[in-house]
Amino acid sequence: MAITTLEELKGIINLTEDEKAWDADGASTLPLLISNDMIPLLSCDAIRRQFVPTAAENRDTIGFLDPQEEAKNQGTERLVHRYRNRAAFFTTDCCFAYCRHCFRRRFTGHLSGPATEKEINEAADYIASHGEIKEVLLTGGDLFTLSDSHIDMLLSIFKGKCPNVIFRLCTRAVAVNPGRFTPSLMGIIKKHMKGAPFFLMTQFNHPVELTEKAIKAVSMFVDAGIPAFNQSVLLKGVNDAEDVLIELSDRLLAARIKPYYLFQDDPVKGTSHFRVPIERGLEIEKNIRAELSGLGMPQYTADLPEGGGKVILTYSYYKGTVTKDGKERYLFETPDGELRYYPE
Ligand SMILES: *Cc1c(COP(=O)(O)O)cnc(C)c1O
Ligand code: SF4
Repeated sequence: MAITTLEELKGIINLTEDEKAWDADGASTLPLLISNDMIPLLSCDAIRRQFVPTAAENRDTIGFLDPQEEAKNQGTERLVHRYRNRAAFFTTDCCFAYCRHCFRRRFTGHLSGPATEKEINEAADYIASHGEIKEVLLTGGDLFTLSDSHIDMLLSIFKGKCPNVIFRLCTRAVAVNPGRFTPSLMGIIKKHMKGAPFFLMTQFNHPVELTEKAIKAVSMFVDAGIPAFNQSVLLKGVNDAEDVLIELSDRLLAARIKPYYLFQDDPVKGTSHFRVPIERGLEIEKNIRAELSGLGMPQYTADLPEGGGKVILTYSYYKGTVTKDGKERYLFETPDGELRYYPE
């Protein structure tokens, strides 16, 4: 049984005062839910911080509820069309475990449930009539909290109306509930693989999340011909250390998952205790780049408030132009900190 109350949690770990005080006044906007598979990992601080709520969430007064202003870019009831050539569809607001750092708190865990057949049809019609949309994220919440038959219906409608659109299957379930990926569910996914490809988008934030079961769940997708990409969130006390991120990338690659993004934690209300200063994030980015291959390196990215969109954050090795020996030259810093001139 998954854990849904502080009482149940007390029987498993010794709660701190801050953890006990969570939701004392019913202030929390995100339910407590920790899946069975995460319970044995709670002894690891990095996992505990991600899933055990604390009163710090309710003290946060800096964040916004919807920093991306997704609500403003709505194409249909459940579809956000923020970028010209791609859109995001909220399949449900439910997850198998709620991450305390969740950036979609305005929506997640409010129990509005799965998208209806009507909402799916509306979104599919919108996408089909906007030929510029080449990719759609099936996100949430977690797509795989839907029943097999609901997933079958959803994929039938989307693939039927938009056969040339790439669908990203966005899920944290491979980490928090890998047993969900049964042969029958995989059979449904494989049945809908005609036309444009699927991509699997995972969220692993710490190497211990890559359990044997999690790796096996991802393998089912990769073996079926669905490439896997990982989106991590940079989280204080979880993975804001170079060695942790390097090990995470190594283990992801070994599991055939390409590290895609390392997100700066969005300024969402209730999550400020997770935030790593951007200067430190940039330092981490530079340090891990020196240790990782191009395959292993994720893009450090921030989603700008007021719906500004995503921007890549990276140390700049390009230092401008200089005149040397009477000629214009580009000036670069090498990864080892030396200087090099590059002919124009
Ligand atoms: C992040 C995001 C996407 C996908 O962006 P990529 O940079 O292509 O991964 C699409 N729509 C919305 C609303 C997003 O937030
Ligand atoms: S799995 Fe995603 S949507 Fe669900 S709580 Fe975690 S971050 Fe939020």
